[in-house]
Amino acid sequence: MSFAPILPGATIGFLGGGQLGRMTALAARSMGYDIHVLDPDPHCATRAIASRTITAAFTDVDAAIDLAKQCDVITLEIEQIHPDVLDAATQHALVRPGRDAVFIIQDRIRQKEWLRTQHFPLGAFAVAHSREDIANAVQLFGASIAKSTHGGYDGRGQVRLADPTFAADAWTTLGALACVVEQRVDIDYEISVLVARRSSGDMAVYPPSRNHHTSGILTWAVTPAAIDVTMTKRAQLLATQIADRIGIVGLLAVECFVTRDGQLLVNELAPRPHNTYHHSERGSATSQFEQLVRAICDLPLGSTDIVSPCAIVNVLGDVWLQEAPPAIVDALAVRTSRLHLYGKAAARAGRKMGHLSATGSDAQEALARVLHSYRLLSPGTVAHFDVHEPTLPTFT
Ligand code: ATP
Ligand code: MG
Repeated sequence: MSFAPILPGATIGFLGGGQLGRMTALAARSMGYDIHVLDPDPHCATRAIASRTITAAFTDVDAAIDLAKQCDVITLEIEQIHPDVLDAATQHALVRPGRDAVFIIQDRIRQKEWLRTQHFPLGAFAVAHSREDIANAVQLFGASIAKSTHGGYDGRGQVRLADPTFAADAWTTLGALACVVEQRVDIDYEISVLVARRSSGDMAVYPPSRNHHTSGILTWAVTPAAIDVTMTKRAQLLATQIADRIGIVGLLAVECFVTRDGQLLVNELAPRPHNTYHHSERGSATSQFEQLVRAICDLPLGSTDIVSPCAIVNVLGDVWLQEAPPAIVDALAVRTSRLHLYGKAAARAGRKMGHLSATGSDAQEALARVLHSYRLLSPGTVAHFDVHEPTLPTFT
């Protein structure tokens, strides 16, 4: 393993060309790196930023070798990359994060069992290999969520079960050979913590982000998280311990639940930039995208200080599927609000097309502004997307 920095002028290859790749590529470009990308979609969001786009599946070993041969370092923006592809790329370029961490994280069963073996705090869960296993788990846990092992995101590949009579339906819906059944956690609030780690083991941890989901999809995120300093430290310690133990090089996002009785539980891990840290572009001294570039290129990690409270709200394809077009002019008239679109042509329900952001004097004001901006942008989606304004707790 090389510890020499990869300096501007070098080429970074991306496995995956969605919005996370695109925003990282924009940061890398502004630092003077060249960008190549591999994605199954020839019109992927990163294409516009890359000097070379390879259209191939994430199982295509030859295409990965082709990418790696022209790159100095390879990173990824999606964890569903076949291990053979990561191995093949590793023969020709540095791959960061490396195969071992990605291999654990990309399979929900493997990830949960690894976290349990390492004694990190988790909610109750069971691995199910049949409809009977699901029924038994729900019998034991009560209200549960069955989650597929691979490829689930934004609440897809998940079935909520109130009691065991729905087990057969859940098994059929997931259509898998195995799944995880989790007990429904009594959530007080959700946070995530982002950690950057270099190959030397040097780490930088961000202040937690407070997050709100509607039907399994992230609605908004805000930093600072409006939580007390003890919980902040607990969550940051947990996230850095996980990042160190799994040996990530790049970014690790740790999604957490805080329960009504004060437990801090790990929900899941992501070895890449994370939707809940899009506010770092404006709210942090170093955006998560620049931080990923620094980590994989072995440059000093940037400061994770909050420079301004900042909030984001996701803008989904639903916004373009209403009778009225999105009211962009109205949304941008809100003080400090900004619109970031990912350049995706086809709007589909639930598809992440972009986000709005806003800063403020505190988390409450930043969140109020961005939610107000969203409600102006798309009044038609407000009924089924939870964009009402919560009152965040304050700590003195
Ligand atoms: P993404 O990739 O978008 O983060 P995902 O599809 O992998 O999401 P999860 O993170 O597992 O899905 O779940 C999405 C959301 O559903 C969580 O953030 C939480 O709001 C809710 N949720 C998931 N698991 C549980 C649980 N065991 N108890 C209560 N709520 C849950
Ligand atoms: Mg999640």
